Amino acid sequence: MRGLFSFTAESSEIRDAVAHIFTCPRCLDRAADVVASLKETGDLSPTGRGRPPEDRYQDDRAALIALIDMREQQRMGLFRAKAWWDELKELSPKEQAGRVRATAAIQKKEVFETIIREAIRLFLLCQTMPPSCCPPGP
Ligand SMILES: [Zn+2]
Repeated sequence: MRGLFSFTAESSEIRDAVAHIFTCPRCLDRAADVVASLKETGDLSPTGRGRPPEDRYQDDRAALIALIDMREQQRMGLFRAKAWWDELKELSPKEQAGRVRATAAIQKKEVFETIIREAIRLFLLCQTMPPSCCPPGP
């Protein structure tokens, strides 16, 4: 897998490998690990070690790296959204409203999606419980 990102990789090898990775979640995960480790050591470069980061791949690997980067950003967004929600749900409704108004980062789509997902999960969980488990309504 590391060889795919080497400057000596053959174009037919690159094309076949990238086409497979786009359709194989397991290999996409492995490619993401390789890209992360190459980035860490500064070795993710189409023309060899130590080249500047603006020296981008000019083949299918560019699309693969873009996909991996997008996946990572999405994962980080969901992680941050979950952290915000964990903090928000400890507050009173009034405090929650104040915090949401005051913090632009909470007003992101991912945070609302996390809250809605949590509400749906609790609703579905509630549906499986006997009625006596739920507190009496208003
Ligand atoms: Zn595979």
